[in-house]
Amino acid sequence: MKIPFSPPYIDQEVISEVLDSLESGWITTGPKVRDLELEVASFSGVDFAACVNSWTSGANLILKWYNIGPGDEVILPAYTYAATALVVLHAGAKPVMVDVNDDFTIDSNEIAKAITSKTKAIFSVDFAGYPCNYDEINAAIASKKDLFQAKGETQSKLGRILLISDAAHSIGAKYHNKPAATFSDICIYSFHAVKNVTTAEGGAICINLPQPFSQEEEYKWLKLNSLNGQTKDAFAKSQAGSWRYDIVSQGLKINMPDISAAIGLAQLRKYEGTLLPKRKEIYTTYNTAFGKYDWFQAPPLDNKDKSSSAHLFPLRIKGISEDMRDEIIQLVSKKEISVNVHFIPLPMLSLFKNKGYNIKDYPKTFDNYSREISLPIYPQLSEEEITFIVDSIVEAVNQVIN
Ligand SMILES: *Cc1c(COP(=O)(O)O)cnc(C)c1O
Repeated sequence: MKIPFSPPYIDQEVISEVLDSLESGWITTGPKVRDLELEVASFSGVDFAACVNSWTSGANLILKWYNIGPGDEVILPAYTYAATALVVLHAGAKPVMVDVNDDFTIDSNEIAKAITSKTKAIFSVDFAGYPCNYDEINAAIASKKDLFQAKGETQSKLGRILLISDAAHSIGAKYHNKPAATFSDICIYSFHAVKNVTTAEGGAICINLPQPFSQEEEYKWLKLNSLNGQTKDAFAKSQAGSWRYDIVSQGLKINMPDISAAIGLAQLRKYEGTLLPKRKEIYTTYNTAFGKYDWFQAPPLDNKDKSSSAHLFPLRIKGISEDMRDEIIQLVSKKEISVNVHFIPLPMLSLFKNKGYNIKDYPKTFDNYSREISLPIYPQLSEEEITFIVDSIVEAVNQVIN
């Protein structure tokens, strides 16, 4: 039984929406992107969301918006996808990596220790779709407010460290029964092909800035600077008589095309009612099925404070080594089940290792990584496939640990 890891959800409604864009005569940024932005914003409990062509582009733009550059530091977990740190390097700033909790999210005590007068932003990664401890993170930022040294107008206006949630996994996650996006200043989703909601490639920036910021003004800034700093996008320019435009800032070119937005629009419309509940159901099925084995370590579970978007099922096996984990993956791969490991910690990747980051400084990150296997979890999985995955994992684990 061949089981892919994370195929995109493409049904007739997705196809119809894409066809609608193709047949409309307009395929790049236009009405579909606008519709997707409105849906994403309302679903996330914010007034404005700006769509871009990836999470990475969105994060590059936000670091530019907050005037982050050489000499600045940005705190992030050592346990994340490389993009979270790469955008900091692109800005010319220093990624300051800290360790994570047992639930894979960034450790707020480590954040408090890592904050210096150079710290300008923090990336909190809602790993697997499970929200970070936002109350503690916001408290850590508030407690170090006196250290903050503003550079430029936007930083002076906020007057503290900017909290950006890397919500690449967590669209639909809740914290204190509210969208998790409303607990950070800026929340960036990824709509990459493997994520819960996709536009093939894409992302969205949710704006949740405190007073005296105008969400609308900042939204306009993001739109302008995601399209070359051009005062009219191609759609507006295409209207008869609207040819004249100006370039008013040195913007990036990272806009999302309508043809991509169409995929996300159709998915998002059935996300809360169908796709997300299905993911959560599979999460529970796995949890119950593995629950009877004493080698099973339950992944982060929903509780009174947090509700996950069930992007990943991060299985951990108690007491095994990294080599044993790899052997288990080998065995299930022979059955044509595609699994993954989230993530190879940043300090173990050549780029960061060569910059002097050392995995020994991040013991919890290494422990989580060395015993982790991410299992397939997506709405199209059948009961038969889920049973086959569970049986194959149990068999492989028993073979390797005995
Ligand atoms: C996928 C992912 C990203 C990058 O998203 P793109 O849209 O591909 O740029 C960033 N952070 C995390 C945690 C991710 O999983």
